[in-house]
Amino acid sequence: MPQSLEQRRHLVTAIPGPRSIGLMARKNAAVARGIGTTMPVFAVEAGGGIVKDVDGNSFIDLGSGIAVTTVGNSAPRVVDAVREQVEAFTHTCFMITPYEGYVAVAEALNRLTPGDHEKRSVLFNSGAEAVENAIKIARAHTKKQAVVVFDHAYHGRTNLTMAMTAKSMPYKSGFGPFAPEIYRAPLSYPYRDAKDIDGELAAKRAINVIEKQVGADNLAAVVIEPIQGEGGFIVPADGFLPALVDWCQANDVVFIADEVQTGFARTGAMFASDREGIVPDLLVSAKGIAGGLPLSAVTGRADIMDASHVSGLGGTYGGNPLACAAALATIETIEAEGLIERAQKIERIMLDTLHRLQADDDRLGDVRGRGAMVAVELVKSGTDEPDADLTKTVATAAHQAGVIVLTCGTYGNVLRFLPPLAISDELLIEGLDVLATAFTDTRS
Ligand SMILES: *Cc1c(COP(=O)(O)O)cnc(C)c1O
Repeated sequence: MPQSLEQRRHLVTAIPGPRSIGLMARKNAAVARGIGTTMPVFAVEAGGGIVKDVDGNSFIDLGSGIAVTTVGNSAPRVVDAVREQVEAFTHTCFMITPYEGYVAVAEALNRLTPGDHEKRSVLFNSGAEAVENAIKIARAHTKKQAVVVFDHAYHGRTNLTMAMTAKSMPYKSGFGPFAPEIYRAPLSYPYRDAKDIDGELAAKRAINVIEKQVGADNLAAVVIEPIQGEGGFIVPADGFLPALVDWCQANDVVFIADEVQTGFARTGAMFASDREGIVPDLLVSAKGIAGGLPLSAVTGRADIMDASHVSGLGGTYGGNPLACAAALATIETIEAEGLIERAQKIERIMLDTLHRLQADDDRLGDVRGRGAMVAVELVKSGTDEPDADLTKTVATAAHQAGVIVLTCGTYGNVLRFLPPLAISDELLIEGLDVLATAFTDTRS
């Protein structure tokens, strides 16, 4: 992190300040309207638990640029590795003149992902691109076409991944027609499921839909986020994921874990699948993989991964050398700095604080999550009716007070916390205090 960046929340102008207002006017005149922004301020510097804006305001970062800068912004090892690589060469295209960094990232992914079977990896640029390629691989391997996804799922914004994503606004509305052969099954959603639906029953419910509406004979892959991201940080009931994995194994269906948001120490394990006790056939990673540089990957069983013919997979930039150098430095940082344990500590701080808040405010309907991926689902007092307005009010108040916090959820009623693991306890607690005040203020 830049030495100059003081780890302190500090506002020196109204939010947004005059420079951000000026830049926002330029943005509105120059950038397509389809790109929205959560914060009204423009960044100039970031590191540790702080993002500093163009007016000199310092914000506590509880978003990590959507779970990307897990090791911190401009993490020292990442900066050094990228600087060294950028001076050596910036691009040759791995499909033209390969380089060691790509192979080393594949080796690291094969080592770090769940299961000790033989694996292969392939690298891409974005999460959506990797999800698409996981489907290509599963179809090539099974010679089947159908894909099952789940309620509340988010898998990206390309055509195939829009079809896989559940929520219409803002992700899909008006952008169809969507890719065919995508089917949706019910998820395990402990807060909203009937109380007698445990993980095993929820899996039976999903498998029944899959067997009746798709049929294993037609089904190439089941794709699921072990903990749902955009859909609301939904942690499925114990037993749900293992039962799905078992069913896939018994039916020649490829089980694909979309760990784009949950991977790389985010959930207090290297991958969320580790904590859920499952070994996916294929695992998709992106976001936290390279300390902020664009990189994504599909990793999995060698026989499945090798199903595609030579040159069937690829892309001009996939596994760019700068991104690979950053990924190796990111993995080194996670291991050298004990960031998995750090995520577990952050989980305790966040869950304790939010449970205390929940104890005297029943609008905090559900507090859930693992590691540094924790959320609170907001409802109208005395009900379980989603309260998107309250969510927006609290998030906006936090932004005004110098805390970056994101919302999510099918009903827009989930506040989600994704701090960088480089944040200090003090800043994290202060950020949560600001939130508690924002809640209290909505009661008066
Ligand atoms: C963000 C996300 C994606 C899409 O990744 P992009 O890099 O934005 O294309 C896919 N799956 C999950 C679970 C995500 O959180």
